[in-house]
Order: sequence, then structure tokens, then C-alpha cells
Amino acid sequence: MSRWPDLSRRKFLTVAAALMGAGGLARSAEEKPARRRVLRLAHLTDVHLQPEKQAAEGFAKCLAHVQSQPDKPDLILFGGDNIMDSFDQTKDRTRIQWELWHRVLKSDCSLPYLSCIGNHDVWGWGKKSGASPEEPGYGKAWAVEELRLPKRYFAVEKAGWKFIILDSTHVGDSRHGYLGKLDDEQFDWLAAELKATPKDKPILILSHIPILAACVFLDGNNEKTGDWVVPGSWMHIDTRKLTALFHQSGNVKVCLSGHTHMVDEVNYLGTTYYCDGAVSGAWWGGKYHQFGEGYALIDLYDDGTTSREFVTYGWEAKKS
Ligand SMILES: [Zn+2]
Repeated sequence: MSRWPDLSRRKFLTVAAALMGAGGLARSAEEKPARRRVLRLAHLTDVHLQPEKQAAEGFAKCLAHVQSQPDKPDLILFGGDNIMDSFDQTKDRTRIQWELWHRVLKSDCSLPYLSCIGNHDVWGWGKKSGASPEEPGYGKAWAVEELRLPKRYFAVEKAGWKFIILDSTHVGDSRHGYLGKLDDEQFDWLAAELKATPKDKPILILSHIPILAACVFLDGNNEKTGDWVVPGSWMHIDTRKLTALFHQSGNVKVCLSGHTHMVDEVNYLGTTYYCDGAVSGAWWGGKYHQFGEGYALIDLYDDGTTSREFVTYGWEAKKS
């Protein structure tokens, strides 16, 4: 099909010549002003830092890779599951992992960063932790402190964009240790935050558990069950409510997540959803499905568009 259905080539050339002759500055009808990049992010999710499997060395290598990019990012977003696990771990084991987290960041990270909380960053919800809800740091309080968050969910302004950091891990039911969703208080806050944001300001949302993803369908055992099985702990169970809210708002341009250790891109109702793999690959044991240890470089533009590139950093899994 012709790109110019209502103009013959001859007529088009005549029009173009006339426009150019009129001052040399005229643009063709299809040409738009170039978008301008306003921020470059590195999204590092699912680090699962632990003393074993040389994870600290791997994390340091990943940070060095990010910081030696020829087109260096301005900011790192940590996508949660920053430590291997505190959900089911004792206080001592949890403390060891957070200390390691700070040690690596102090020696190997000179970029500013923001983080959200992952399910494995929540302390004590699992029975094996031996923790009680009365203890200081129980649940998300410890992670909020270690990750230097103002609150378990919050919003900040960056380079003309609004960043909304969500807390997507919630107490589960009899079938799930936890569920991906927003509690009512957080949902109401999010709705108010979107309403208060000018329509011309693009919004980025960071959550640990994906709000919407395609890869989750490829992580179950559908061949055996004859059904696509996507538990509410793999992807937000309140996706319908959230996508309706984003559609109504109109300026939620991109949602970033981790949790799946897989990489995909979904566009739904004008919002792009990126799952950005895992720094740890398969928990420092090699690739997970087809995805090696890596992170995403994400460019944000002034017109609300984005681009994403998933990059591996050359890590080879160690045995111990
Ligand atoms: Zn997770």
C-alpha cells in the first residue's frame, strides 16, 4: 500500500517543492518533532543477595557493568527480592543478608537508587522464621528501614515524570503464602495520586510482582493440567481493577516489575508493562528458562514514551 494514498508521486513532489521553496523549514505532514530523552534508568530486580553461590561477587559485577555503560544510567531502580530471603528466615540470617546488601552497595555502587519491596524482603511471615508480629522489624518494617524508604509505598518526581513505587506483597490465603495485590489503603492512595497528577505528566510505576505479564503463562504446568494456571502470587490478582484505574487516568505510561525472573513486554490500554528478568538469573544457579543473569536499561522520554533493553552482564553461575 502506498504511504501517500491520496497524493500521486508527482503531486507530492510538487507540494514538497512548494513547501521547501516557501522557506526551507517546512516539514512533511508526517514528521513529528524529535522526542527528547529525559532519564536513563537501570532496573535491577531479584538480586536475591546471599553469602552463598558468590552472589555478592555477581551483584558487584552487575553494578560495575551498569556503571561502565558507555551511555551511563542516571538512576538505579531495585525491583525487590533484593536479598535471598527473609520471609522464612530467622532474625540472624536476615541480618546477615542485609549487612551484605549494604556492604556491596557501599563498595560498588556510586549511582543514586530507589527500591521497592519484594516478597522475599518481608520478614517473618513464613512459619520457619520463628518471628512474632510483636517483634520490631516484623513484616515490611525491616525492609523499609534497610532500603531507606519513606514508606512501604510512595511517589517521587523525576525529570518531568512521576514515579510511583508500590508494595505488592500481601498476606495470602490458605493456598498462598502471599498474594500480589494492593491493600485498600494503598489502592485509595494510588487513585488519589493519579487524580492529582496533571494529565500531561507521564507516570512510571514500579512494583515487585507484575501487574500484568505474559511470561507468567509460561511458568506453570499447563501441559499437565490442561489449563493456564497463574497463581495470585505470580501476578497481581487485582489486575482488572488496576488496569481500569490506569485507563481512566490515561497517563500511566509504563509499569516495571520483577519477580518472574523472565523478560517480556505487554502493552494493554496504552500502558506498557515490562518484566525485567533477574540479576540472579535462576537464584544464582544459571539461566531461568531462556533468561540469563541481567538487568534492564530503560529510557524515558519527554513525550511519555519509553524504550527498554535487557542486558546480560556475563555472569557464570557458581556451584557453591
Ligand atoms: Zn519475588
